[in-house]
Amino acid sequence: MPGPRILLVEDEASIAEPFARLLAREGFEATIAPTAAAAVERFDRDRPDLVLLDLNLPDGDGRDVARELRTRSRVPIIMLTARGTETDRVVGLEIGADDYVVKPFSSAEVVARIRAVLRRSAERPAEDGAPPEPIIVRELTIDPAARRVRLGDAEVELSRKEYDLLLELAANAGRVVTREDLMARVWDENWFGSTKTLDVHVGWLRRKLHDDAAEPRWIETVRGVGFRFAAPDGDGSP
Ligand code: CA
Repeated sequence: MPGPRILLVEDEASIAEPFARLLAREGFEATIAPTAAAAVERFDRDRPDLVLLDLNLPDGDGRDVARELRTRSRVPIIMLTARGTETDRVVGLEIGADDYVVKPFSSAEVVARIRAVLRRSAERPAEDGAPPEPIIVRELTIDPAARRVRLGDAEVELSRKEYDLLLELAANAGRVVTREDLMARVWDENWFGSTKTLDVHVGWLRRKLHDDAAEPRWIETVRGVGFRFAAPDGDGSP
């Protein structure tokens, strides 16, 4: 069975080549990208399981590469850098890097970090239960990884509950979700009592999606049962 694929983005051959050989001995499949441009190209081609990313590249900043990769996936990223100030560390982690190693590093230390980050990332979907893939219904896109919603070209600003409600409805697009299930999943699993808060939030969500309860494009009320979100194929009314 092939080992995890590692993309090593590093322009200094004296570091990259011996380290790639060491990774191979440790059971990883390592490929080297010596520039920022090559990193993005290789990433799209190889879809590695983890990226080791040098901060200083001849054609750009590793942090820009990290941002670019984050628009494509949640791939674990470990930043490699000669700089070790607290500011760099914070910036690296803020843009979505998973860990940070300061050069000169010991190979054993980096291999241990790689294994730890891969382990965490394998556990992540079970921890937060959020699917990393965007949910797309017609011109509406929900990105659960970033908790962002776009309607056409416009970003939709939602409160936490509005977002949770939309995600629950859209994940079941085309199917009725009962009021009880929505209350239980979005509010509290031990909920019982009034569902007025649900109607209030559906109302707010409709307004933000420019929807009309009387002639719904997105959220249809199924009287006495619950709500149905528009079917993904957009064949007429929801
Ligand atoms: Ca470098």
